Amino acid sequence: MELRITEIFLSIQGESSHAGRPCAFVRLTGCPMRCVWCDSEYTFYGGVKITFGEIFAKLDEFGCRLVEVTGGEPLAQKNVFPFITELCDRGYDVLIETGGFVSTENVDRRAAVILDVKCPASGEAERNHWPNLERLRPEKDEVKFVIANLQDWEFAKEIIRKYDLTQRSKEILVSPVHGIENLQQIAEEISRSGLPVRLNLQLHKYIWGADARGV
Ligand code: SF4
Repeated sequence: MELRITEIFLSIQGESSHAGRPCAFVRLTGCPMRCVWCDSEYTFYGGVKITFGEIFAKLDEFGCRLVEVTGGEPLAQKNVFPFITELCDRGYDVLIETGGFVSTENVDRRAAVILDVKCPASGEAERNHWPNLERLRPEKDEVKFVIANLQDWEFAKEIIRKYDLTQRSKEILVSPVHGIENLQQIAEEISRSGLPVRLNLQLHKYIWGADARGV
């Protein structure tokens, strides 16, 4: 079986509760969404079809037991589901970073899901697949709100309350769009909120720069 892949690389996990850990990334090509602040538009087209065997050979070379499957939208390729299962069978610690509009129902239960909820400023909030929030597991899954402004933060708070995400998820990540001007104000609002959320800055962009690829 094959997947269309944009890049496979070894780096440091830049986000989530796993930030700072060495991590191998398998970045799949393609995404039907068009978030206005998307930082991975280069994944929308192109890519190369690679067999599972070739991907595993690359991962074996890296020797890293933490693997993130990302995109683009990784769950948009149907072969990703048996691929995730095979990763789990091989004993990898697997993270799935998904944009939140494809159902997570068929993701192997051994993998941890990091689920985006799209906020209004993304332009794609209408496409959130809300049943995904009800599938979150508090022992391993994380939910992420990328916020571009204070209106997005208000939206995030409403969704956190409505879906009881403090109980349902292991972590609630609030990730300001990289480079926004009012970061301090957003940080202050988060600190005053009384909510058990985690401000999520993208470590890799501070280390290698916002436009670097394969890091
Ligand atoms: S879902 Fe992710 S990859 Fe797709 S457009 Fe939005 S930010 Fe970009």
